[in-house]
Amino acid sequence: MNSDSDTLGVCPDCGNSISHSWKLIEYQDESGTTRCFAECTSCEKVVKPE
Ligand SMILES: [Zn+2]
Repeated sequence: MNSDSDTLGVCPDCGNSISHSWKLIEYQDESGTTRCFAECTSCEKVVKPE
């Protein structure tokens, strides 16, 4: 078993998978889609997981 279901997505800059534990904030865009910001442990900065 892998833990892919526990990830928010991947970093748009480096492709590192980001787990839910690194989520910072969640918000909804204009179309009501839930999006979030998270910290990439590889880049050590805040990114929008894809
Ligand atoms: Zn990154």
